[in-house]
Amino acid sequence: MIKLNNKFIPTLFLLIIIGTTFSPLLSQNRFPKPEFESGYVTPREIVEDIGGGIAGIRKFKAVQVGGPSGGCIPSKLAHTRVDYEALTNIGAMMGFGGLLVLDDSDCMVDIARYFLSFTQDQSCGKCTFCRVGTRRMLEILEKICNGKGQHGDLTLLEELANRTKQASLCGLGKTAPNPVLTTLKYFRHEYETHIEGRCPAKKCKALITYKITKECIGCTKCAQQCPVGAIQFRPYQKHEIDATICIRCDTCRLVCPENAVEVK
Ligand code: SF4
Ligand code: SF4
Ligand code: SF4
Repeated sequence: MIKLNNKFIPTLFLLIIIGTTFSPLLSQNRFPKPEFESGYVTPREIVEDIGGGIAGIRKFKAVQVGGPSGGCIPSKLAHTRVDYEALTNIGAMMGFGGLLVLDDSDCMVDIARYFLSFTQDQSCGKCTFCRVGTRRMLEILEKICNGKGQHGDLTLLEELANRTKQASLCGLGKTAPNPVLTTLKYFRHEYETHIEGRCPAKKCKALITYKITKECIGCTKCAQQCPVGAIQFRPYQKHEIDATICIRCDTCRLVCPENAVEVK
């Protein structure tokens, strides 16, 4: 597992190709080879027994199975066996065998937006729903991530996703809506919270604000590192962030030695 801090890449990333390249992962010395008494493997066993579990204090939230066109399975369904039928039944698919592990710091709306932006870019444009439907879906997801979502958007998003699945000629268009449909199915409350003006994972920039708490000791590190000068340099005094200038880059939170920067 590799820890990544890129906004566009979920926190934990574990890529496993189910099949011939699955064996080398099992044979790595770092983790003992687990015994699967059930005779099959589940996403939870892959994440926890083979991969070593979620890093730090984070909680296992979901797995995106099958690559960009796969589906997001919540941790409560991570006991599902990894095979073609079982994964398809819960909205995911085997695909190329990629498994993306998500924790509670990942925003499911942003994840759906990210994967759809990839598949939308791959559309050859022959079918109307794949060409236009994925574009409209992407616009709605961007709108929701930008804090401009409205309640009717979710119904429209769902309808577009289902129609794109039905009316597309090839596998790309038929599977591109999977991340949208599964996140809507299993994480609908996150979409609704975005529409109400909050990003629960605190990932969507338009929906978060940075604040300095009373724990600040005035070390000035944040003021020195802020790329846009949103924090005035005030040695030994509590610092403040000018929200009208802040571009929510997260630098101040990362450099603060007192954990005095909070995201709301
Ligand atoms: S479904 Fe396939 S054929 Fe149709 S536009 Fe999309 S990529 Fe092209
Ligand atoms: S880095 Fe933290 S402690 Fe130092 S001035 Fe900024 S908020 Fe205060
Ligand atoms: S989040 Fe970035 S831009 Fe905003 S105050 Fe902190 S360092 Fe400056």
